[in-house]
Amino acid sequence: MINALKILKHQGKQFIRDVTNITLQPPFRGRPIISGEKVDENKLVSLCPTEAISANPVKIDLGKCTFCGECAFQFPNKISFTTDYKISANDRNNLIVIEGEDKPIELNYALIRKEISSFFHGSLKLRQVSAAGDNSAELELNAAGNVNYDMGRFGIEFVASPRHADGIVITGPISENMAEPLQICYDAVPDPKIIILCGVDAISGGIFADSPAVSRKFLEKYKIDLYVPGNPPHPLTFINGILELIRERR
Ligand code: SF4
Repeated sequence: MINALKILKHQGKQFIRDVTNITLQPPFRGRPIISGEKVDENKLVSLCPTEAISANPVKIDLGKCTFCGECAFQFPNKISFTTDYKISANDRNNLIVIEGEDKPIELNYALIRKEISSFFHGSLKLRQVSAAGDNSAELELNAAGNVNYDMGRFGIEFVASPRHADGIVITGPISENMAEPLQICYDAVPDPKIIILCGVDAISGGIFADSPAVSRKFLEKYKIDLYVPGNPPHPLTFINGILELIRERR
């Protein structure tokens, strides 16, 4: 018993007490800031591997950004990455960071369906669908439930069967051969249900966006409740996005 207490004291508390308010350290890249510095915008736009950058004014679409950091390496006075991990959004347009703006990315509460907070604010069970994912976002989703991030304390958990789930979390760009299994899984989830796109591949296709092997028609049929950017997304980005989505509102 004494030995067990000694070990407990030595290890301390391993979970993050307040997942909504911690400071991450570089090299983590979160929300970018684009300064007003004059640069060769054509060169800046063309270096991005996923066409996430557009010009005049310079914008970065976090739904397309792989967070490779190349733009910040080559244009350090123009683009820098903060460690702000709260970058999930429920409005696709809110994922676009514009030159000269330095403001947090927030959910648009007017777009959140009423049944989401009334049904899910204390408990949200999710089925994860890796639709041609590369296992990176999947690993981070797994980490979201580990002893450090412990999203289970908020009632957020992954379940094995879509019939036990309140929604699906899609990772990967959705390949043609995963389109039907994804549809079958979604259909098996009882109403009301939510859809979360996790990672750049799921949100925009990422570097696979133009591949003929990708089939994203599923996404045209349904409202997306949450976009979680990153490549892969940080567990805190995922957890904070969901907490905001399901927060009880009166
Ligand atoms: S960090 Fe994002 S915006 Fe910058 S070059 Fe990489 S993918 Fe493009």
